[in-house]
Amino acid sequence: MIDFEEYVDLSKFSTIRIGGKAKRVYFPKNIEEVQYLIKKSLDEDKKYVPIGVGSNLIFKDGVLDYIFISTKNLKGFSFEEKGEHIKLFLEAGVSFKTVLEFVKKYNLEGFENLSGIPASIGGAVAMNAGAFGTEIFDILEEVTWIDNQGSILKSKKEEINHSYRYTSFQKEGFVYSATIILKKSDKDISKIIKEHLIERNKKQPLNLPTSGSTYKNPKEAPAGYLLEKAGFKGKKVGDVGFSEKHANFLVNYGNGTFSQLINLLQNAENTVETLFGINLEREIKIVQ
Ligand SMILES: Cc1cc2nc3c(=O)[nH]c(=O)nc-3n(C[C@H](O)[C@H](O)[C@H](O)COP(=O)(O)OP(=O)(O)OC[C@H]3O[C@@H](n4cnc5c(N)ncnc54)[C@H](O)[C@@H]3O)c2cc1C
Repeated sequence: MIDFEEYVDLSKFSTIRIGGKAKRVYFPKNIEEVQYLIKKSLDEDKKYVPIGVGSNLIFKDGVLDYIFISTKNLKGFSFEEKGEHIKLFLEAGVSFKTVLEFVKKYNLEGFENLSGIPASIGGAVAMNAGAFGTEIFDILEEVTWIDNQGSILKSKKEEINHSYRYTSFQKEGFVYSATIILKKSDKDISKIIKEHLIERNKKQPLNLPTSGSTYKNPKEAPAGYLLEKAGFKGKKVGDVGFSEKHANFLVNYGNGTFSQLINLLQNAENTVETLFGINLEREIKIVQ
């Protein structure tokens, strides 16, 4: 039987700590269990929602009756050395923290710019997470995934539609595992990682529950700059606000609610549209 919890507080599954309750959250342990859940969602005509670390995911309030699939128990991790290179085979629930520990231990190059992103492999692949000029697709080789009919597929990265913070997995598919390829390095990788973490700590409100970047950067200007110019840096509705430290980061000051959050987002989007004629596109994924 697949592990599940009933009437779970969804705020536990979202780093901004906002959200109602899930009728059920499932915790599959292998690919067959995920496949079963996706087929179940098809049979019952219910949406399925994959959940990683929840660092870009926000749930509405009330009781949500979807097939929530947490990747918490999908932690398979193995590797293979090929000359200069090391291939990592990672299941969806492996955290970036775990990958970083490995990367530091073997002084591997390719992943260092992604350090500090609070992601799972599945969430990062689905979002094409990136930082400091690197995206996960730069080091990705192959993804094993399950489509909405429940079929298990393997795709090379070239076969996957992806762009800035977008992949086709946002529309269809559960990322089950990914192969990434890294290189043995002559640089001091631990030092680079430390510098990135210091940089993040300076710029991001890491002392509060947050969902990271709220909007994608439009081509005209960074979203944080537009929000600041529109007067949203530090602006709050109830206990939800755009951080004083980074205008594009939503934060929860304590008892933030979903309606406060939506109210703030709609206000920001309308104001930026009116002032600059730019439609901000949400990077955060809202489940409602
Ligand atoms: C403090 C902070 C800093 C951040 N910095 C960055 C940054 O520098 N760069 C960046 O790109 N992002 C950043 N983010 C956003 C976030 O960390 C990334 O988008 C990350 O990739 C999300 O991974 P996750 O496991 O938390 O996914 P979740 O938030 O759990 O999910 C995100 C989306 O992916 C889907 N998903 C999750 N797992 C799977 C799966 N196995 N298969 C298919 N779909 C799946 C979810 O349904 C949801 O739609 C930051 C967030 C925070 C809170």
